[in-house]
Amino acid sequence: MIHTFNVRPELLTVADPVPPDDGVVVQVGATGVCRSDWHGWVGHDPDITLPHVPGHELAGTVVATGRHIRRWKVGDRVTVPFVSGCGRCHECQAGHPQVCDRQFQPGFTHWGSFAEYVALHQAEQNLVALPDDLDFVTAASLGCRFATSFRAVVHQGRVRAGEWVAVHGCGGVGLSAIMIAKALGAGVVAVDIDVEKLDLARQLGADVVINSRVTPDVAGAVRDATDGGVHVSLDALGHPETCVNSIENLRTRGRHVQVGLLLADQRRPALPMDRVIARELELYGSHGMPAHAYPEMLAMIRRGALQPDRLLGQRVSLEQSIDVLVNMDRFLERGVTVIDRFA
Ligand SMILES: [Zn+2]
Ligand SMILES: [Zn+2]
Repeated sequence: MIHTFNVRPELLTVADPVPPDDGVVVQVGATGVCRSDWHGWVGHDPDITLPHVPGHELAGTVVATGRHIRRWKVGDRVTVPFVSGCGRCHECQAGHPQVCDRQFQPGFTHWGSFAEYVALHQAEQNLVALPDDLDFVTAASLGCRFATSFRAVVHQGRVRAGEWVAVHGCGGVGLSAIMIAKALGAGVVAVDIDVEKLDLARQLGADVVINSRVTPDVAGAVRDATDGGVHVSLDALGHPETCVNSIENLRTRGRHVQVGLLLADQRRPALPMDRVIARELELYGSHGMPAHAYPEMLAMIRRGALQPDRLLGQRVSLEQSIDVLVNMDRFLERGVTVIDRFA
């Protein structure tokens, strides 16, 4: 429970949630710890009101349903995108609930899943049924990072076999993007400042790794390694420098996808729009992934084309997660940290 921004959260016992009419209560089986939770904790997210329970990368079992729920029943194993659409606004009607005008976001707009139970609103059209053979820890790790990467690479970046893809930042989002781009048959350049993360990137299939700490011209190095630049580039970190590098390392008519969040005083970076015009570059945002796109991703996981369990980092208790959360800005974690014990 966060009582004050930037003050260490506390572990407390609170009343169990009741299902809203349009929602369910899920007993949390596992929930990922993410940099977005850190941003929320320090006060960067205007959706959060205090006191607050974070947690948005969850998987678990439905234990209660609201009176308007028809598709889901007690005992169903589910996950949910971190953005749940209302189902009624123009964007939801057009099939884009990830940019709904009236979003429900567990752990942001409402209390989240760093808890034994979480209430999920707008559940009818936003829950995702989990295959029986997908365990909760792996399902939680799909959370926002893997699913967000999937949408960024597959839907927004439209990566095709034989193309070059650059991934700037090899945290959870970046490593997921590398795995997904390789599964599609692309060549991948991974960029980070951390040697261990670059090693992991190579193990996941990155063809070229670039240590940006010791490379003065990162964009030039990527262009040199890819015969003039990549077709698709992702800023998977969310920083003015990685964003600009990601645009500048594109080949003519290349596609930049902004996945990492740019927040606080970094949210309006100066971009090389001269290059965007002269080379007809395309810039895309990517924000989560709609529930209706999950089956495509889950099918690739089930046939082994994607192995999100390879991105798992440490498993911790809810109590231990407090240390992980407050240290998230130090980028100590390797892979995705998941809470799998709540007592
Ligand atoms: Zn909507
Ligand atoms: Zn997340």
